[in-house]
Amino acid sequence: MNRYWKRLYSLFIILLLVCSMLTACTGEKIKKYQKDVFALNTWLSFTVYGDRNGERIIDTAIERVREIENRMSITIEDSDVSRINSNAGKKPVKVNNDTLEVIEKGLEYGRISHGAFDITIYPIVKLWGITSEHPKVPTEKEVQDKLSLVNYGGVIVDGHNNTVYLKKEGMGIDLGAIAKGYAADEIVRVLKEGGIQHALINMGGNVIVIGGKPDGKPWRIGIQDPRAEEGHKSHIAIVEIMDGSVVSSGDYERYIVEVYNKTGVRYHHIFDPNTGYPADQGLMGTTVIAEHSIDADALSTAVFVMGIHEGFQIIDQMENVKALTITKNKEIYTSQGFGEGFILTDKEYKIVP
Ligand code: AMP
Ligand code: MG
Repeated sequence: MNRYWKRLYSLFIILLLVCSMLTACTGEKIKKYQKDVFALNTWLSFTVYGDRNGERIIDTAIERVREIENRMSITIEDSDVSRINSNAGKKPVKVNNDTLEVIEKGLEYGRISHGAFDITIYPIVKLWGITSEHPKVPTEKEVQDKLSLVNYGGVIVDGHNNTVYLKKEGMGIDLGAIAKGYAADEIVRVLKEGGIQHALINMGGNVIVIGGKPDGKPWRIGIQDPRAEEGHKSHIAIVEIMDGSVVSSGDYERYIVEVYNKTGVRYHHIFDPNTGYPADQGLMGTTVIAEHSIDADALSTAVFVMGIHEGFQIIDQMENVKALTITKNKEIYTSQGFGEGFILTDKEYKIVP
């Protein structure tokens, strides 16, 4: 009996050793996976550290992004957004939970920003066509006509029946300022569910990170130079974070290049819903850091439209949200608590205390 227990005991010890060796092995097997795909009108670049399932988990995240794109893209004919817009003034449209959630968030930011952020900006976006193949500078009359259709108060959401209705014919929503943030949060959810503990995903101006680098150091994210020459992307500063999202908006992302080359006037893609013209608060760019990318995305656009003073008023009221703005004369203003983990790298830019 005694010997029997001794044997069982040694067997148990061996089993324990084998187990711990195996864990050590799987620990060592953490590999770096990189993948770039084009989705949501931009290049998504994944850097993910994981075990042998890493690649499969990235692919699951990409599938999720495509699902979101198919529901929220303005250029996909049967997306929820396109169906809402083509039924404006006619009837409510049943939509997916994803779309409903993003629209509700968009409306919330409409209220928070006192209308500077407005998902019903689409008639103006379409009129200028900045992101289309044929952008143009419209007449004042055209702008005023379309502006009368911009009002986020005219979006009727029925959360019970999952429907969205736009009150006036000709109205339209555009989730371009917020959908990427939602997709980024969903990527993080999928990666974390797959056991990923360290990742960085760059979605062209929207960056989201998980868990710092595998060596325990924070991820370093470059803030793009708003006036870097085409094809020579460089950064002016670096932000260090372990977890969360860093999202930038600006007049340099999409604009009418021909007009800019001829006149120096930069007609870009972020519009002021008060005027129907590209927002001009003297800024070239804004960056917002928040836990969730959907918030950072909406806020970076909103602050760009609102300007430093009004924009920082709403940022400073929020917990764990920080912002920086870059003015046209290369001054950098930061909201409360920005200092830590912020490194200026371009001496041409000045931090205004
Ligand atoms: P972002 O790059 O996140 O700042 O978003 C810019 C995109 O949001 C534009 O291409 C438009 O589709 C849309 N947009 C432009 N102006 C506004 C606005 N004032 N509020 C909400 N969305 C906007
Ligand atoms: Mg945005």
